[in-house]
Amino acid sequence: MIIVKTAEEIELMRESALIVSKTLGMLAEEVKPGVTTLYLDTMAETFIRDHGAVPGFLGLYDFPNSLCMSPNAQVVHGIPNDTPLEEGDIISIDCGALKNDFYGDHAYTFEVGEVAPETKKLLQATKESLYVGIRELKIGNRVGDVGYAIQKYTEDRGYGVVRELVGHGLGRKMHEDPEMPNYGKRGRGKKFVEGMVVAIEPMINLGTRRIKQLNDGWTILTADGKPSAHFEHNVAIVDGKPQLLSTFKYVYEALGIQSDEEEEFLQKKLQQ
Ligand code: MG
Ligand code: MG
Repeated sequence: MIIVKTAEEIELMRESALIVSKTLGMLAEEVKPGVTTLYLDTMAETFIRDHGAVPGFLGLYDFPNSLCMSPNAQVVHGIPNDTPLEEGDIISIDCGALKNDFYGDHAYTFEVGEVAPETKKLLQATKESLYVGIRELKIGNRVGDVGYAIQKYTEDRGYGVVRELVGHGLGRKMHEDPEMPNYGKRGRGKKFVEGMVVAIEPMINLGTRRIKQLNDGWTILTADGKPSAHFEHNVAIVDGKPQLLSTFKYVYEALGIQSDEEEEFLQKKLQQ
């Protein structure tokens, strides 16, 4: 059952999402060769608590840390450890925060130093597919329209779309209805309704879409050992249209990147 949110609840969810956005922005300055994911995890936990929130993943389904840290061939749900990041790595950082009883949940895949051109392209296409999907999140559309858009955008570029893990509704629980797959068929699935809030999170592989799981019970990685990218935003349907609750602007500020992508990607199709 989809739990719609009131305008007041959406504002609280924006607050939670922005704490995650700021956490990712803080981490953006710290991601570099030699840094361990466990160190970044500790920094994030402190930062989240200093902002009056609780880490959203810590203890959720018994997850042991505050961040899911998934380098290179790891897709999602990687556990922070004391292995230093290396030049040329990519690292998906997925972060949750709980404040005022509502969760924020979003993710960014960072480059560690200079990464291979084909990996850079994968990151760019995955992030673009996130916005291509978000544009479809509007009244009159269904869950399948978002999945179709993400799948088409990334498969047309030769990438593998992970099927086993999906986006989700978000609210007082980290995972609410509906499931938001990154693949699908136009016009299929549940109808979107005013006031719903979802996490859209394409997980896109450079090679095969097939995955496997480490025997730690958590870490998902690509079956062929090639890199995987993951970007996630929290989005509400307001006035029939998608409204971003999270933002990458703090990440871009930290990295010195000029980007209007959030406005550009959303506006382009909304005007149609
Ligand atoms: Mg997430
Ligand atoms: Mg999520």
